[in-house]
Amino acid sequence: MKQENSQWPRRKFITTGLQVGGLAVVAASPVNVFGNKAIEATAYTVGQISDMIFKETGFKGIANTVDTIKAGSSDMKVTGIVTTMFPTIKVIHKAIELKANLLIVHEPTFYSGNIEEKKWAKSSEVIDRKTKLLNDNNITIWRAHDSWHTIKPDGITNGVIKKIGWENYYKGEKTFTIPSASLKQLVKYLKQKMDIEHVRIVGDKDDKISKVSLLPGAWGGVEQMNAIINDKPDVLIVGEVSEWETAEYVRDARALGDNISLIILGHAMSEEPGMQWIAEWLQPKLPGLPITHIVSGNPLKWV
Ligand SMILES: [Zn+2]
Repeated sequence: MKQENSQWPRRKFITTGLQVGGLAVVAASPVNVFGNKAIEATAYTVGQISDMIFKETGFKGIANTVDTIKAGSSDMKVTGIVTTMFPTIKVIHKAIELKANLLIVHEPTFYSGNIEEKKWAKSSEVIDRKTKLLNDNNITIWRAHDSWHTIKPDGITNGVIKKIGWENYYKGEKTFTIPSASLKQLVKYLKQKMDIEHVRIVGDKDDKISKVSLLPGAWGGVEQMNAIINDKPDVLIVGEVSEWETAEYVRDARALGDNISLIILGHAMSEEPGMQWIAEWLQPKLPGLPITHIVSGNPLKWV
């Protein structure tokens, strides 16, 4: 490629350790989402905030929703909110420093998608010590997963779209068309825009990309492979795959002559912009309450 396509501008790569993106406190409105009676910022309880999120996202609740409290309590008065993908030990410490006592997280605290996240282990010192850290510091963790995927457009995908500047191409569906690029250009663009150090691909750097299917997170092989079958994208962009499912499907499809590539961003980094967006979305609804997004980062390193 001789010239840098203007659709794929250069951007200085930012190394992420623990990025803290504070949000400016929006000028207090006399009327907030709780009605005409303005509630003092410090008087919001966890329960009021989670009820408000359900209402504002249009989430009617589903059986066994995972959007529940994982630590702490619903009647706790909230001093500040941190939003993040995973409430890692590092993120919890940062929240304590910020005097934020509510963590709104997208993924499990205790490594299981079961509503009762601790149930899988008979005993674990890691779970016990993480619980103690949360209890000692009066931190409540509430999971915004099902509700945030319910809002239209999907809160996570919409956050990613905003982060990578694809608002003009995204129409609320997972598959859409972007300006033509090579796979190499697209990978470079996504890494820069999303602050991702490494991605994994199935494909060749010169593959021509125009139609993309964007499925951040871990939708599972069936959903991912059916997106390829039904929408026929040039590239499927995902958070993570089971290597034996989608990655092998794409390898075979390519060997049989299909123009399909796969970009694996990593689960946490692929959905993190959605938790940045929830902070921005919440702030005007909770005037006066400090809301900070913290990047939980990728647990994996390349060696
Ligand atoms: Zn998700």
